[in-house]
Amino acid sequence: MLLPTLVNPTSAEAVRFGDLVITHADLAGSARATAAALAGRTRVAVWATPTPHTCLAVVGALAAGVPVVPLNPKVGERELAHILGDSAPELVLAEPDADLPPALAHLPRLHVDPAARGSGDLPAEPDPESPAFIVYTSGTTGPPKGVLMPRRAITSNLDALAAAWEWTAADKVVHGLPLFHVHGLILGVLGPLRLGGAVWHLGRFSSASLGEALAAGATVVFGVPTMYHRLAADCEASPSLAAVVGRARLLVSGSAALPATDHERITAATGQRVVERYGMTETLMNCGVRASGDRRAGTVGPPIDGVEVRVVDETGASVVDGEIGEIEVHGPNLFLGYLNRPDATTAALRDGWFRTGDMAIRDPDGYLRIVGRRATDLIKSGGYKIGAGEIENALMEHPGVAEVAVTGEPDEDLGERIVAWVVAEGEPPAASDLADHVARLLAPHKRPRVVHFLESLPRNEMGKVTKRALKVP
Ligand code: ATP
Ligand code: MG
Repeated sequence: MLLPTLVNPTSAEAVRFGDLVITHADLAGSARATAAALAGRTRVAVWATPTPHTCLAVVGALAAGVPVVPLNPKVGERELAHILGDSAPELVLAEPDADLPPALAHLPRLHVDPAARGSGDLPAEPDPESPAFIVYTSGTTGPPKGVLMPRRAITSNLDALAAAWEWTAADKVVHGLPLFHVHGLILGVLGPLRLGGAVWHLGRFSSASLGEALAAGATVVFGVPTMYHRLAADCEASPSLAAVVGRARLLVSGSAALPATDHERITAATGQRVVERYGMTETLMNCGVRASGDRRAGTVGPPIDGVEVRVVDETGASVVDGEIGEIEVHGPNLFLGYLNRPDATTAALRDGWFRTGDMAIRDPDGYLRIVGRRATDLIKSGGYKIGAGEIENALMEHPGVAEVAVTGEPDEDLGERIVAWVVAEGEPPAASDLADHVARLLAPHKRPRVVHFLESLPRNEMGKVTKRALKVP
């Protein structure tokens, strides 16, 4: 059962947004009312604003067994048209005052009244293989793909994460993540609800509001690297914030690589070491550092319970520890396929293993170090295979670098040349200075050949750098 607390609710707090608190009993009553309203529906969209409505709507649809398409409320017209045409929801669940774009005007609209309580029996728990969601990928490497996510993937993954992080009903998870992707919605809302615990949503992340939540008793923080980057600076500036962050039970980072420098800055300021985990829409979480594990910067830990991970070359043969290869994943966490994309589904699987497109090095103790994506971050230069992530981490250690992305650009001599896109910290350093710094820390062949200085890096809502938007001027 995905949400046991709907059948055996307690009066404990489940969801908190500011002063608004929803208990597990409230959720169970609301879910019964929503399930009755959705009877007979086969697919619904949720206008996934960071609000209590989104939590109630998703839980109600899950109780009804109706697959949910979470929609990004900031999505552009073209992407929204693509997602609606692809997923064809029958109606949209949205707050009464939500200002829905014209692309949604043709759909019947339903809102979940937070005060509504149903009393009848819940529908029978759906087949674990049936889709709970169609979640669209972040679109970092191309147009977003609709991922058919079975209930079995969610239950097995959340249980494995609970074990890894010693996560219980006593935990209060705090975050300000969007609710239309796996991180905020599956881990950040369904995770605490499945356990009978609570999520405190910040609406919008700020270090100050996070500090207040921690001071008020939140125990676990979920965040993306851009958030931890800000938190590092804010903790350095504020000893009282650093102290309260230092008392959190667990800080967890994911969705993109946490730069090693930010990891170490947080430790220096707060005494806490961030736990990093690695996953994606198609597989949910694959790896994660355990609460009791060694929290080394730049690593995402070993596979979580039940998930098999291998690191392979182009032919699918495992590479030896210490060498770069592609991560392939197998286990109960895998998706059912991409919606309407049998070609992409076939291409993404090898003998039932999911080809993540992410490149990594495995340490002898089974910890993975992600070096970047095969498509954008694996640079083949002068006969070497070089991971952009390693060079990015090295550049971040230079005092003149605030943010950086590294790409490979076509080069007649080298095949590809290493290009660094840098947001400077203060006065921009000389390009040769940055190149020498990398050559000294890593190896001469990892030296960036070109450095472009930018005002900011192009990023999506998850704070991920969209490298395909980086164009050589
Ligand atoms: P698209 O598939 O549409 O191009 P996307 O891959 O960014 O977009 P998501 O499924 O939201 O969409 O993100 C999963 C990806 O995020 C992973 O494949 C990986 O590249 C990256 N990622 C997640 N966690 C980490 C991490 N801890 N370290 C490095 N990369 C990570
Ligand atoms: Mg992807």
